Amino acid sequence: MRIARFVAQGDPTFGVVELAEDQGPNPETVAAVSGDPLAGPVHYTGERLPLADVRLVAPVIPRSKVIGVGRNYAEHAAEQGAPVPSSPLVFLKPNTSVIGPGEPIVYPAETSNLHYEGELAVVIGRICRRVPPERAAEVVFGYTIANDVTCRDLQAADGQWTRAKGFDSFCPLGPWIATHLGMDEAGRLDLLTSLNDEPVQTANTSEMVHSIPDLIAYVSSFTTLLPGDVILTGTPAGVGPMVAGDRVSVTISGIGTLTNPVVSEEA
Ligand code: ZN
Repeated sequence: MRIARFVAQGDPTFGVVELAEDQGPNPETVAAVSGDPLAGPVHYTGERLPLADVRLVAPVIPRSKVIGVGRNYAEHAAEQGAPVPSSPLVFLKPNTSVIGPGEPIVYPAETSNLHYEGELAVVIGRICRRVPPERAAEVVFGYTIANDVTCRDLQAADGQWTRAKGFDSFCPLGPWIATHLGMDEAGRLDLLTSLNDEPVQTANTSEMVHSIPDLIAYVSSFTTLLPGDVILTGTPAGVGPMVAGDRVSVTISGIGTLTNPVVSEEA
């Protein structure tokens, strides 16, 4: 199932993205559901709209946190001139950094080196603490796509990564949450980041240093995870700068494509 949040008129609504039976020119529809699928059972309202006629928003606003993982692909660690950490290197992004598909990444005045980082994101579905790796699949609601936008200059200057990765708009998520992928499948997906349609990052999630179950076990060893919390699993090699006017897309096989424009702060 592909769970999206969308606006047609009024407040954002959750919905299930489906392939319409007639396979017409706009074959995808979104079927509205009542309530929040991360909070409890939901029901179809009966309303179905062409996907092309609605505006998707972030499929989840994390209740408490977005946890990022640094240098979880060996080739990315090498391009940063840094070692692969023996344990996951984790950081937090504020939930106010989350935006949805199509929403602008705002280039802050404080940086002159703004980077994209295409990543697979894990959406947590249950309250949990100290989850053993072999039970990690039980706490996953689904998988989505993230861009862990980073001010590379501030990351180096600050030492701590909070500001470099925490500006408003620095965590695009979407376009929806894929709940049908098993954990083994999620660990072997193709990832492609494109900048203005030029491929810049190509990898497979099987190249992660620390696997998805190991990341969930590690993160939940020190903090309680809540439904709607998101773990970003790290970016592969090929990170690079974006400027205002650029358009960045992250595609992950089995999920979809997350595209966001970059705008200057004055825009
Ligand atoms: Zn990252």
